[in-house]
Amino acid sequence: MNAAFPPYQQGTDNFTSRGSPMIDPFGRSVNYLRVSVTDRCDFRCTYCMAENMQFLPKKDLLTLEELERVCSAFIVKGVRKIRLTGGEPLVRKNIMLLVRQLGKRIGFGLDELTLTTNGSQLARHADELYDCGVRRINVSLDTLDPEKFTKVTRWGELAKVMEGIDAALKAGIHVKLNAIALKDFNDIEIPDLLRFAHRCGMDLTLIETMPMGEIDEDRTDRYLPLSKLRADLEKDFTLTDTGHRTGGPARYVRVEETGGRLGFITPMTHNFCESCNRVRLTCTGTLFMCLGQNDAADLRAAVRASSDDGLLSAAIDEAITRKPKGHDFVIDRTHDKPTVARHMSVTGG
Ligand code: SAM
Ligand code: SF4
Repeated sequence: MNAAFPPYQQGTDNFTSRGSPMIDPFGRSVNYLRVSVTDRCDFRCTYCMAENMQFLPKKDLLTLEELERVCSAFIVKGVRKIRLTGGEPLVRKNIMLLVRQLGKRIGFGLDELTLTTNGSQLARHADELYDCGVRRINVSLDTLDPEKFTKVTRWGELAKVMEGIDAALKAGIHVKLNAIALKDFNDIEIPDLLRFAHRCGMDLTLIETMPMGEIDEDRTDRYLPLSKLRADLEKDFTLTDTGHRTGGPARYVRVEETGGRLGFITPMTHNFCESCNRVRLTCTGTLFMCLGQNDAADLRAAVRASSDDGLLSAAIDEAITRKPKGHDFVIDRTHDKPTVARHMSVTGG
């Protein structure tokens, strides 16, 4: 047993109760927490990070125990789904200890624990993830071409990610692939990605690039509206709208020719904020109430000020009163500054 985490006894603490949902000023209930467990990553995807990224000093990070404490406070407040993300969540040291602890809350307040990963470390963690109660994960995969994969991730190796996907599927975990749509890079490959995903029983979700953080290139050069991609796909495939939802912002269609599902996440061309149910915690304990805004709450101060959860609970309540109506992402061709200064790896995708 790990000394840092005391054994969890179901039914003997306040975590077994499911709180009533937190309601924001616009009447939306907040029941989904995304947690970026590290800002570090073993890839340097060109649309996400600069090659020489400066990462946070380790002393600024919440410990795994502190992260669990914050997650627990959210579960008590009615959060039913937690997604661990990053940076790359599976490169955080001892991350499986946190996964195991949170997995014990499934059925006791929490409905689902999921993960968004680049897949590089998945082969060695897949069985344990399943054992901890993880049943669905998102794997980011923008291309099936090994050379292009290394080009876009700078440091990644496609074969390792494919091994990871295979291991996850064999472990019994549902895998959804996420691909960023990049003009003149993977647009012509999307039909292949779609066929591959559906052949293996995986959904595929396409995402528009968002202007977050300084990178080494101009994002507007690669920006591809999904409305254009959808129109192109409709030349070869019959796409039927469905009401399917997974708690995230994707809108899904059924692809009649493959029988699989295809999702679209369109923060730039179609604002999905009206149904937003989530908040995002960074690895330093900063809570962002919106991916596309800078306002935030410092939960680390509340965690470290007292071992009693009263302060933390009050800080979360106060933060929820500041959840904004929506984001203001714009593709700005006149300024070279991103709309949001922090990188996606700070708050996770
Ligand atoms: N490292 C993990 C991964 O790649 O899946 C988790 C973190 S990553 C920041 C989460 C998702 O954000 C990935 O699917 C990635 O493609 C996406 N992403 C990164 N930068 C983005 C940007 N500027 N716009 C839109 N999506 C972005
Ligand atoms: Fe790392 Fe994910 Fe960002 Fe790529 S998208 S650099 S894998 S955090």
